[in-house]
Amino acid sequence: MKIEPLESWGVGLKKPAIIAGPCSAETEEQLLETTRSIKAIGINVIRAGIWKPRTRPNNFEGVGEEALRWIQHVKKETGVKFAIEVATPKHVYEAIKHNIDIIWIGARSTTNPFTVQEIAEAMRGAETPVFVKNPINPDLALWLGAIERISNVGVTKIGAIHRGFSSFKQTRYRNLPVWQIPLELKRKLGNIPLLCDPSHIGGNRDFIFDLSQIAMDLDYDGLIIETHRDPENAWSDAAQQVTPEMLDSILKNIKYRYPTSKDKDFITVLTELRDEVDHVDRELFEIIAQRMEIVEKMGLYKKHNNVTVFQKNRWQEMSETRSKWARELGLDQDFMWDLFKLIHDASIRRQEFIMNNPYDESNDAAK
Ligand code: PEP
Ligand code: MN
Repeated sequence: MKIEPLESWGVGLKKPAIIAGPCSAETEEQLLETTRSIKAIGINVIRAGIWKPRTRPNNFEGVGEEALRWIQHVKKETGVKFAIEVATPKHVYEAIKHNIDIIWIGARSTTNPFTVQEIAEAMRGAETPVFVKNPINPDLALWLGAIERISNVGVTKIGAIHRGFSSFKQTRYRNLPVWQIPLELKRKLGNIPLLCDPSHIGGNRDFIFDLSQIAMDLDYDGLIIETHRDPENAWSDAAQQVTPEMLDSILKNIKYRYPTSKDKDFITVLTELRDEVDHVDRELFEIIAQRMEIVEKMGLYKKHNNVTVFQKNRWQEMSETRSKWARELGLDQDFMWDLFKLIHDASIRRQEFIMNNPYDESNDAAK
């Protein structure tokens, strides 16, 4: 897949790329004033939703086409670039006609391959860069598929936006980040520019700094942050928007990391530490192999005595001791428990196999 680096998109974005602006364009005056304050802190690419996909009707659904003319005025006044969301072929044609600089496909649209295909067809031959937001459900293939559809019509300025995933579970975030999905996307499409949208992940302005810092630590290419002159009174997503001043302070406090260091010893020291980790991993694997051998002996022994593989009391006791060990060793208890469950599951499956299949017992001590 041919994907151009952000720097050659011709819209002034380069790593760490920052796009900021209101969730929605509300009035021409709001758009101009917000843009001016954002530009004053050195950001030159503004976002604004003009067609808003809302979960339920009768909420503010965006001002629509009228805002395209406001954007043209604001661009003329301030010289910034503008990004908007498109959800239908008509939106694409209107955006291109009005010289919108970047378009993005929203999370709800990405879930629907028919919609994405129609948007892609409308993009054929166009030069406008496109960001594809992750689908609302945690499905990497759907996200990749949408990017492929856009690529297949010849668009090469393609990026991805991670905005989190809906969950039936109530969490402190509006959308679960599930960081491994965007990281897997990066692994599959090495060079795709990836932005984080901490506003829609967090759903609350208090989470934006921490989420942005994580994204920078994970080597994202940039951030898209909802910014409004008066967040509390915003017509959509009021809780998660920040003022331009807050944005400035967030961006100044983030620590930006680099892919490598200029320190001459850096590679040597890192290589030594990696050798140590390789060694420990090898030991870990050997220990697991050793554990599996014992598990097999136990499986045989249970089989000879016609005893069930799973035993509730033993499981209870294991859960208590393993949690205690994790605590004593200063390890994250949830993580250790998840890891242990995986190991235990594999052991159960192994014993299940031994119980119900002819098994070579000749070299087994428990025979
Ligand atoms: C938005 O960016 O305003 C938006 C509607 O986002 P999402 O598609 O991620 O919900
Ligand atoms: Mn929004």
